[in-house]
Amino acid sequence: MAIAEFAPGSQLVAGKRMFTGGGLYKQPNKNWETVQFAICKRCRRFNRQKGVQPITHCSACGEGIASNVPFYSGEMIRPEFGFVSQYQRKLPVAGNKRPVRLYSSRVYFDDYHVPDHLANQLGPDDHNEALALVPEVSTARAEIRARYSRFGQLALVNHGPEGRGFRVCQNCGYADGETKPPVVGGRRRRGSAPSKHKNPRTNMDCTGFMKTYRLGHEFLTDVLELQINGPLVQQVAAPEGKDMWRSLLYALLEGSSNALGIRRTDLNGTVYYPTATQPPSLVLYDDVPGGAGHVRRIRGALQTIFQAAYERLDSCECGLETACHECLWNFYNQPFHDTLSRGAALSMLSGLIR
Ligand SMILES: [Zn+2]
Ligand SMILES: [Zn+2]
Ligand SMILES: [Zn+2]
Repeated sequence: MAIAEFAPGSQLVAGKRMFTGGGLYKQPNKNWETVQFAICKRCRRFNRQKGVQPITHCSACGEGIASNVPFYSGEMIRPEFGFVSQYQRKLPVAGNKRPVRLYSSRVYFDDYHVPDHLANQLGPDDHNEALALVPEVSTARAEIRARYSRFGQLALVNHGPEGRGFRVCQNCGYADGETKPPVVGGRRRRGSAPSKHKNPRTNMDCTGFMKTYRLGHEFLTDVLELQINGPLVQQVAAPEGKDMWRSLLYALLEGSSNALGIRRTDLNGTVYYPTATQPPSLVLYDDVPGGAGHVRRIRGALQTIFQAAYERLDSCECGLETACHECLWNFYNQPFHDTLSRGAALSMLSGLIR
């Protein structure tokens, strides 16, 4: 589902015509299923809960959670009936114009979800129960643990403009970006305010109630969880404001793509914090519905990938404290460009290669 591409206000080219997202397809008498989500500010755990009651505490560490905080918490719906484009009598020809994509989505690792009926039939090529040391690539400076599974559950969230979500009409599905900041103190704004707008399908006036949601969905795919421990982790410090783990994550994804010939867009990753005290895990996943065996190949070729990632970063000419499109940046990791440092990833990689 193209939540990033066809969110309200974003544009999409199809059949040489330019479509602009105008809302969510709304089935009469059927409402979207709502899910509460919250990213814990203390342990960074992704929390989710079905229904309309906001999450009040982190399920991992117990920290209190404020509701409806930009980029951290809110109510999410899956646009399961699809999107509708803005009403236009005649659709403009796309020509050479690049579609506007307003808000990039972020992906969070949720948990492993092995279906009950399969639990007794799975082998190590299907699902590992825990992280295990990978002796071939571990050294006294860096212990590397890995866990592979075909049953990694991730959540994609489109937080909307400035993380405030989208206002969605409960009657016709019209949607636009939420412009008002949430009420100070993080108290839930009940959100239901009538507002005059045009039904995107009929172009008729509508005064239905608007509610604020983030758009998102969950998906199951092949994941490879990697954790690095040991003196190396203490020795490498990221420059102020830079994220060493995320920089290393994108370096490994580029290295995997280069070394194994996997299309970079078929592969993605996220940083996951299983506990507040341990180093985070890098979760690499197949960005292909149902998985495609890519991260399973990565598990068997870690040394080659460290080397390829090192070479890519070492040969780039951008500043070490930053990054560029030749090394770590791409269209999809835009929300993180400011936090990526080629130098931080390179220091880690130089401790991982032989
Ligand atoms: Zn927490
Ligand atoms: Zn409406
Ligand atoms: Zn660069």
